[in-house]
Amino acid sequence: MVYLDNAATTPMSQASIEATINVMKNYFGNPSSIHSYGRDAAKILRNSRQTIANILEVKADDLIFTSGGTEANNTAIRGYALANEGKGKHLITTSIEHHSVLHTFEYLRDRHGFEVTFVSPNEGGVITADSIKKALRPDTILVSTMYANNETGSILPIEEIGQLLGNHQAAFHVDAVQAMGKIPVFPKKLGIDFLSASAHKFHGPKGVGFLYADTNKFDKLLYGGDQENSHRPGTENLAAISGMAAALNEANENLESNFNYVKDLKEDLLQELKDFDFYLNQFGPTLPHVLNIGFEGIDHDLLLMRLDLVGIAVSTGSACTAGATLPSHVLSEIYGQNSPKLRENVRISFSEFNTSEDLKKFVQNLEKILGD
Ligand code: PLP
Repeated sequence: MVYLDNAATTPMSQASIEATINVMKNYFGNPSSIHSYGRDAAKILRNSRQTIANILEVKADDLIFTSGGTEANNTAIRGYALANEGKGKHLITTSIEHHSVLHTFEYLRDRHGFEVTFVSPNEGGVITADSIKKALRPDTILVSTMYANNETGSILPIEEIGQLLGNHQAAFHVDAVQAMGKIPVFPKKLGIDFLSASAHKFHGPKGVGFLYADTNKFDKLLYGGDQENSHRPGTENLAAISGMAAALNEANENLESNFNYVKDLKEDLLQELKDFDFYLNQFGPTLPHVLNIGFEGIDHDLLLMRLDLVGIAVSTGSACTAGATLPSHVLSEIYGQNSPKLRENVRISFSEFNTSEDLKKFVQNLEKILGD
């Protein structure tokens, strides 16, 4: 079996599994209880938060644990827009965001009367800081862009956008779900006010993530207890949080070597594919973790099915649309909704757990399938 769909989710690392199981076995207390069971659990929660805060170089109090990237995105966008609508009703995002961002903005537009500008990529398929600048208005209160795209791996100009928002009232939210644990991410240096991350993309457990927020001026999604600095009620998923902190810590300790390893994997694969007739769906600076390609005239659904039959897992795009066989909204923005390329895209996404043997098996089987 060969798993090349790491942008959808990653297998948990050994360190993360051990940290998760350790809490499940030994620390069942409720972190809000005042007896020793609770205090022991609260210590794990505190340590996990501090570990992540140290990696991001932020204050531990500015981190809110969530059920994943979707909740972090919803909290930042919906929570900030609704709490600050007195300052303006205009919001900016891009048209290539994950659906957890796009649909939240659509909800704010349709149900709360916000005006939303969905900035499109330029002719080269790239979102530029200049296009964000052009969309800015005095009544813009929030700009939300992803750090790296989940379908193409494109890296957005976060630092430039952060700089241009430096003297504007708009808060800056970054969906860093695909970047966290792969490249250094320091929200303070980048002028970021809100940042979302999800553990299952960096070898942690599913159903857990965090939101960095440098302001308290946002509404919560859920109402209840005072957990998470009163921003997110409900007893914390301590085992998963501990597993997430262990996974991020491990990723961070090996950040550079993992990055270079994955970069080499991608280069090797491109080398192996040099005699194949394919084109790249690559636009501007791109994470080495994602290779999005197409074979002219080859239907990607059929190709995926045939690869799956021989135990190779790749994808056409984001996990939510993959099952529903909807064309990629990202490539549709770039190529136009009638482009035949929307039926040809194949996303191969790597992690440091992949080997060159995996790539060889992929290429051998691809050759066989395309040759039939
Ligand atoms: N944002 C991006 C860019 C993603 O790739 C994903 C997951 O596919 C999410 C948000 C949602 O994260 P989660 O699965 O933790 O809800």
